[in-house]
Amino acid sequence: AHRVDNEYDYLFKIVLIGDSGVGKSNILSRFTRNEFFLESKSTIGVEFATRTLQIWNAIHFLSVYAYAEAIRVYSSSQLKSTIVLRQIEGKTIKAQIWDTAGQERYRAITSAYYRGAVGALLVFDITKRQTFDNVQRWLRELRDHADANIVVMMVGNKSDLNHLRSVPEEDGQAFSEKEGLSFLETSALEAINVEKAFHTVLSEIHQIVS
Ligand code: GDP
Ligand code: MG
Repeated sequence: AHRVDNEYDYLFKIVLIGDSGVGKSNILSRFTRNEFFLESKSTIGVEFATRTLQIWNAIHFLSVYAYAEAIRVYSSSQLKSTIVLRQIEGKTIKAQIWDTAGQERYRAITSAYYRGAVGALLVFDITKRQTFDNVQRWLRELRDHADANIVVMMVGNKSDLNHLRSVPEEDGQAFSEKEGLSFLETSALEAINVEKAFHTVLSEIHQIVS
């Protein structure tokens, strides 16, 4: 099926939170425009950026096998395979990702920022212990301002700076398990796991709403 860009099945608002300087704006620009900026421009952050993508859930993957089987059995029947194909088509998700314009520096993020958000990427910097210690505070902020069912993924960014690491990956792992969050280490600079982080959150949300 061919779709134009403004056609989608779901619109999901995702917020980026975490201390200043951890790489939120670059994670956003990497995901939505495949761009990275060495210099931080915290004061001119965009309000939000969007990207439209396809999500396939577990049921869709199972259907792929059903489809392969259907092709084998009904290869002469064009009609049959068209029907199956429609069933296995992934959903088109429009991700609307909100970034702060540096307000996190003054702890001045308003509840409007969180309003309607169904997912959050809670980012820390693996080279700055303090940003990891503050994750607890950000979780409290989410509990106070966001929907109780918001899907949260904790992200340890700047994994390319392994030689400067001050947060062992196991610490992130242990904390996320304790809090029931997903966890990934990313590098916006080297484009590692950024796609995966968003896809994981969006799939989880899709699983919940569908
Ligand atoms: P924000 O304040 O959380 O939005 O952080 P920024 O996206 O503005 O990034 C802060 C600084 O960290 C900038 O100088 C970025 O170039 C740098 N940065 C962001 N992500 C990475 C990364 O994955 N690796 C490295 N080495 N630097 C990064
Ligand atoms: Mg920023």
